[in-house]
Amino acid sequence: MAARILDGNKIRDDILAELAAKVEDIAERGVKPGLAAVLVGEDPASEIYVRNKTRACDRIGAFSETVHLPAESTTQDLLELINRLNCREEIDGILIQLPLPGHIDARAALSAVSPSKDVDGFHPINVGRLATGTPCLAPCTPRGLIEILKRSEIPIAGKRAVIVGRSNIVGKPAALLLLAEHATVTICHSRTPDLAAVCRQADILVAAIGRPAFLTREHIGEGAVVLDVGINRVSNEAVAERLLGHAPKRLERFRKSGKALVGDVHPGDVAEIAAAYTPVPGGVGPLTIAMLMSNTLDSATRRLSRSGSDASA
Ligand code: NDP
Repeated sequence: MAARILDGNKIRDDILAELAAKVEDIAERGVKPGLAAVLVGEDPASEIYVRNKTRACDRIGAFSETVHLPAESTTQDLLELINRLNCREEIDGILIQLPLPGHIDARAALSAVSPSKDVDGFHPINVGRLATGTPCLAPCTPRGLIEILKRSEIPIAGKRAVIVGRSNIVGKPAALLLLAEHATVTICHSRTPDLAAVCRQADILVAAIGRPAFLTREHIGEGAVVLDVGINRVSNEAVAERLLGHAPKRLERFRKSGKALVGDVHPGDVAEIAAAYTPVPGGVGPLTIAMLMSNTLDSATRRLSRSGSDASA
């Protein structure tokens, strides 16, 4: 039977439509959610990411502003800016677009964001709350994984989840969120012996590695659900032919443009073996922005409760 494709664009659209209705509701009670995006320096990819995030704000009716600091700004300049944003009542979420220029202390910057406005979920207080099962703002991409599973009615409780990758942004928080949903969780990394054998045991396999098509048929158990977080740009023709041979239209597009996006899982192998999987592009990626909007709205809703204007709460 053909594997089920978990369509991240569709799930994102559903979520954004639900959030837009909620934004309208709290706007009637006097609060408009606000997101501030901070960009330091001139990184074209970061500028595109931030533009996509502010567009999503427009789409749900939230307010957004982008603050652009010059590349030569110091850590102190950034900390002062974050402090000003922390103090502004109408800003519910602050996101510091990564990567920051090398001379800036990224850890200090992320820790300076007020935990209540930390819509990326990177502040140590939110990380601690996530680890202890306390309500918190959780990182967006891992939250997106849970949303994909739940909205696709794929059970998590009691299932064996294997995550490849242990980054603070994806792998570790994904493990904590899956654990909170009662999965039995294994985290793998570059020192894991016999990775393929561990991966094959997974009912839910999460790939967050950053290497094109690193997981192949030997890593995927028959009938597994595979969530591919990886976003890798391929420009080598031989590699593209090896990875996209099963998809003539994608290969044709590669030949025209000279580039293609692939995940961390071999796209042909996963389609053959898995029960369900997220494609790249169009799988996990779209959920990240949807969850950023969801975190911003949660933060705004707490502002409404604090302001006491929420008569119906
Ligand atoms: P990191 O580079 O921070 O982490 C990669 C992880 O993969 C590390 O834990 C590393 O292990 C592990 N790894 C590397 N090589 C191997 C190997 N040979 N065998 C087993 N494990 C290995 O990456 P991120 O977590 O930040 O991102 C992962 C991918 O997800 C990237 O492609 C990134 O672009 C994408 N991404 C996508 C997002 C989205 O919105 N869809 C959001 C964030 C990221 P070790 O710790 O031992 O080095």
